[in-house]
Amino acid sequence: MSRSLSGNQIRQEFIDFFKEKGHQFVPSSSLVPGSDQTLLFTNAGMVQFKDVFLGTDKRNYTRAVNSQKCMRVAGKHNDLDDVGRDDLHHTFFEMLGNWSFGDYYKKEAIAWAWELLTHKWGLDKSRIWVTCFKDEKGQIEADQEAADNWQLQPGINSDHILFFGRKDNFWEMADTGPCGPCSEIHFDKGLEYCDKQNDPKHRCGVNSDCHRYLELWNLVFIQYNRTSPIKLEPLPSKHVDTGMGFERIVSVIQGVDSNYRTDLLLPLIEMVRQLSGQSEKERDENFTPYRVVADHARAASFLIADGVVPGNVGRNYICRMIIRRASRFGSKLGLNEPFLGKIAEKVIEQYSLAYPELEKNHKTIIDNLTREEERFQTTVESGLAYLEDAILALNSKGITQLNGKLAFDLYATHGLPLEITRDVLREKNLEVDQEGFYNAMEEHRINSGAGKEFGPQGGEDAEFYSTLGDQLRKTSRLENKGVQYDPYTLSTTESEIVGLVFEQESVKQISEGQKAGIMLSKTGFYIESGGQVSDLGLINSEKGKNVFEVEEVRKPAPGIIVHFGKVRKGKFSVNDMVTAEVDQKRRQDITRNHTATHLLHAQLRKVLGEHVRQAGSLVAPDRLRFDFTHPDALSSEEIHQVEDGVNQEVLNNYTLTIAQKKLSQALDEGAMALFGEKYGEEVRTISLGGGKPFSYELCSGTHVNETSEIGSFFITSEASAAAGIRRIEAVTGRKAYGLMSMRLQQLSAIKNLFKCSLDEIVSTSEKILAEKGHLLKELAKFGSIAAKNEYQAAKSRALILDGKSVVTLLLKDSSIDTMRELADSFRQDFSSGIAVIANMVGPGNIQLISTVTDDLVKKGISAGILIKKISGEIGGSGGGRPQLAQGGGTNLPKLKEIFENIHKYL
Ligand code: ATP
Ligand code: MG
Repeated sequence: MSRSLSGNQIRQEFIDFFKEKGHQFVPSSSLVPGSDQTLLFTNAGMVQFKDVFLGTDKRNYTRAVNSQKCMRVAGKHNDLDDVGRDDLHHTFFEMLGNWSFGDYYKKEAIAWAWELLTHKWGLDKSRIWVTCFKDEKGQIEADQEAADNWQLQPGINSDHILFFGRKDNFWEMADTGPCGPCSEIHFDKGLEYCDKQNDPKHRCGVNSDCHRYLELWNLVFIQYNRTSPIKLEPLPSKHVDTGMGFERIVSVIQGVDSNYRTDLLLPLIEMVRQLSGQSEKERDENFTPYRVVADHARAASFLIADGVVPGNVGRNYICRMIIRRASRFGSKLGLNEPFLGKIAEKVIEQYSLAYPELEKNHKTIIDNLTREEERFQTTVESGLAYLEDAILALNSKGITQLNGKLAFDLYATHGLPLEITRDVLREKNLEVDQEGFYNAMEEHRINSGAGKEFGPQGGEDAEFYSTLGDQLRKTSRLENKGVQYDPYTLSTTESEIVGLVFEQESVKQISEGQKAGIMLSKTGFYIESGGQVSDLGLINSEKGKNVFEVEEVRKPAPGIIVHFGKVRKGKFSVNDMVTAEVDQKRRQDITRNHTATHLLHAQLRKVLGEHVRQAGSLVAPDRLRFDFTHPDALSSEEIHQVEDGVNQEVLNNYTLTIAQKKLSQALDEGAMALFGEKYGEEVRTISLGGGKPFSYELCSGTHVNETSEIGSFFITSEASAAAGIRRIEAVTGRKAYGLMSMRLQQLSAIKNLFKCSLDEIVSTSEKILAEKGHLLKELAKFGSIAAKNEYQAAKSRALILDGKSVVTLLLKDSSIDTMRELADSFRQDFSSGIAVIANMVGPGNIQLISTVTDDLVKKGISAGILIKKISGEIGGSGGGRPQLAQGGGTNLPKLKEIFENIHKYL
């Protein structure tokens, strides 16, 4: 290929090509999929369009084009094992896609793909191969339509149109749901790229798993709905979903032999080389660590920009793992100081045009990388040393698998992620029990009381409800789009029961005492989302003759909402007209907390800096919890500033502006999006403060009309939630009033005790504390005088043994300081002698000090040894220097016995 196009130009040309063909450009969604609880990361372009294929969401366009950020490093799609070893798989990569939602189909999709590759980008037609679907089981119709369309393309070699079976050419989203045949485009890089030439069984060709044929682009034709393992129903409208590996097409157009030598990744590789001081030749001879570092640094930068910071579970674990893995591979190149920030600088420089979130989070990215590298470096050496020991032990026993629990301990105590342990073991032809690792991790997580990473949505009952939803749409008055949901204006709704569920079965009637689920044609009950908890309330009919108490509201499948709870009175049947009433008082409390959360977010950014980003929240009736990215604990001054700022904004009584907008417009205007949340084309925005709002967020929650409704706002705690994430809890409205009222009562009780006014409470407390300090000092003085007197008496009783004086003394409630003072006196008073001083502080707690004069020390008598012996005998321990030693114990009678027979001890 001779055209000199940069990677960024190629991306843009792809987008422009399809825009010219009537496609709407849709920005990449976050790497953290919004509503899809089953998925750790977005792993293909179709993720953000899933609901469109399922028929539960509609867009106002039927053709779309995009470049999607993808991660394939966990779950069903995990390419980690290939990353570093080959030149075509990454953990993070971009997928270019064009889409038809019930619009054009195979004819256009194939013709445009061919036109773009061969005409616009000039790929050598004789090197292009395509595959179509033919069922090896003969149950599903072969995709002759696709093959016929390929035949029509100008200059295509008919011999290059091949058929393959289900594994390669039939695409399914899940066990049921939309699916269809696909057609893949491969590029022949030339025989020299076959890495299996020495394998006699290898037959070089498309899908033969060697590196000669590069899979570039997958065109999926969604034409069926799978309803059971053996049943496919044709879909009323057919869709196109394509995905092209961006780095791969750039490598072909730029004529380089590796994704890593494209202008997308070479600058990163080059930076690694410069830092390591190696030559280009040395680099090429040892390319694997270069690939790993470049790949992982890029992936981690994109993850952090999407709000995923290093941590211990789920997505955060992956972020941590790839940073640590990059760090370890870096150390193979002699990079032993944090260096990933420098590679990330290149990533940001290279990609910010297409993905502005990188530049926006510049500092956060660099800080997180560096901090995580530092953290890892403090433990990695001991971790690797432990692992080496474990490997020696395995070898000596002739075992090839490392115990999973041990691997987890290596992670928990020495910070070695499983993947690194596996790398190290692999280098020695050993393996690790991964299942054991995950079991140990799970056990640890449960024992440590950590919550589940994923909530209950989309749980086991998802399938039951999605089938039920489909039925209801056909048989009831449920709208085609599903339930009419309006938590913003409908607090009391007249509605119709469209379905009832009892013990996971669809029923016609429920009656008093039963715990059941009610589905309505419309509802104003808010469903947990964006951290705001669901509403509770009552459903009743016939003016309160029948009452159902709503205890939980959920959306178990797209399009239906189930009100779970208990029939308190009477009975309910399908098609009954009912009144659904949200508990208004509770809703008001929630609403106050939600708006306060926005105010808090804005204040935190104002006080702490723009790096603060929401990392999770809970908006409940009794409190709000807000997690955000920030490296350090807040000082009390900062907490006060934030709290004060929020209360000022409350009192400023801003009116909230709530608007529906296009997502792109809202983002352009600077609205803050929540990562992990999936946004449609149209979004709801909440802003506060006119002109340039000081708070502007995308949010589907319920809010107050004016900020003064919040009443007041108090922070009740500030703590760490995870590495690099702080958590604030706060109260508003009724709770805030309740809390303050209680605190005032407590203060008032103290004031009464101190017999002062509230205004004097601090000065009075200070005065009392000062007095206490003074009294303690006085007391100590007296104590020390008394102790000295006792010492004088003991001195006169001193035992003389072979010319040395032996003094024993038992004090009560004295102090170590006094005992030391007495020991010093003894050494001045006696030129040759030994003293043992004991002090009883409370029952069963004896302190001991012993001192020996220098002449006796020279003769080998040691206070240390003496104290060790005595302490041991009275049930404690001690020791010290020959001149002076300290110890303690519990057994008083024994001590007295020792003192009486002290001559024997010497
Ligand atoms: P492969 O067999 O090469 O792993 P795939 O069948 O998993 O590819 P698809 O799921 O069809 O790929 O994804 C569409 C396109 O995305 C592929 O044709 C390929 O060009 C690209 N792609 C897939 N996985 C990766 C990856 N890990 N890194 C870079 N590009 C990828
Ligand atoms: Mg793959």
